[in-house]
Amino acid sequence: MEKIDILSLSLAELENILTEYGEKKFRAKQIFQWLHVKKVFDFDKMTDISAQLRERLNGIFCIKRLFMQKRLASCIDNTVKYLYRLPDENFVETVLMQYNYGYSICVSTQVGCKMGCKFCASAIAGFVRNLSPSEILMQIYETEKNSGMKVSGVVLMGIGEPLDNYDNVIKFLSLISDKNGNNFSLRHVSLSTCGIVPRIYQLAEMKSGLTLSVSLHCADNNGRSEIMPINKTYSIEKLLEACRYYIKTTGRRVTFEYAVIDNVNSSDGDADKLADLLRGMNCHVNLIPVNKVRERNYRTAKAGVSAFAERLGRRGINATVRRTLGSDIEAACGQLRRDAVEQSKNGGADF
Ligand code: SAH
Repeated sequence: MEKIDILSLSLAELENILTEYGEKKFRAKQIFQWLHVKKVFDFDKMTDISAQLRERLNGIFCIKRLFMQKRLASCIDNTVKYLYRLPDENFVETVLMQYNYGYSICVSTQVGCKMGCKFCASAIAGFVRNLSPSEILMQIYETEKNSGMKVSGVVLMGIGEPLDNYDNVIKFLSLISDKNGNNFSLRHVSLSTCGIVPRIYQLAEMKSGLTLSVSLHCADNNGRSEIMPINKTYSIEKLLEACRYYIKTTGRRVTFEYAVIDNVNSSDGDADKLADLLRGMNCHVNLIPVNKVRERNYRTAKAGVSAFAERLGRRGINATVRRTLGSDIEAACGQLRRDAVEQSKNGGADF
């Protein structure tokens, strides 16, 4: 019998399994707290559990750790990028960033991505599989252990499309915020999506308090479809309708991500179109200098991201320029994993 991945279980699920095995219900809470509060990932170290039960736990459950394959620390700022190896030899990337208010962590939700955005390194390495709830969660727990830092913000902006792995992402959110466990407020979580419209409606109904970030990157349908294939399924109009619903239902402001790319979406006309599109919405625009991806020729607009921001500002749109963190350590998402995949194809990873 395959062992159960205990870190993907809710407290209620753990209670059910343990009581089926004839154990007392309160044991589940004890174990849940060892895992999610004390972050002890070895049943034999759970000292208030009898040796007999610990043996039983070892027989039924597994605790899936992530192995730190590579750690890259920026020399410019305190950004640290981790390449984690999963139990099945796949890789994911996690980035720890320091802001003046504390540490924020960027986690991956899939091994690879299906969405095929032209400017994104994750699309180049292709899609392999969804991450389980525990594989998303453990990026945080392992990184806290490895860095000695407590994370105060979580962004689902690493490799993968979170709303394409909806159920596992929702389970992850409920695990990380469980009052009996890690008790992390979802108000400090941002979820970034390329725009899977039906899932945005579903997420709105949860009223979880998280911030929705939408990767817009272009204000007209032809241009957006060219760089983001998802736009052929869900047009800008449908996407913005879903965003308006999200804002109305949750009372939360939506963030739009916009990488300013030379010759693609950076002209004055593009800024004006964007301003017209978003006028009157409770939103914020986050302008991103485009990260260089080796295989692609995209460049940040020469005229500058701040000129684009100012033009939006003059048209009443609240825009900020995202600080570039870890620019010396290949922080563009998907680049480390892609290199690891290529190296193992060429006869073994060399880290
Ligand atoms: N799939 C999700 C989350 C992962 S990508 C999404 O699309 O939002 C996280 C963010 O980085 C997105 O806004 C994405 O568009 C952006 N991004 C990807 N590659 C980039 C690059 N080379 N330069 C700048 N931003 C990039």
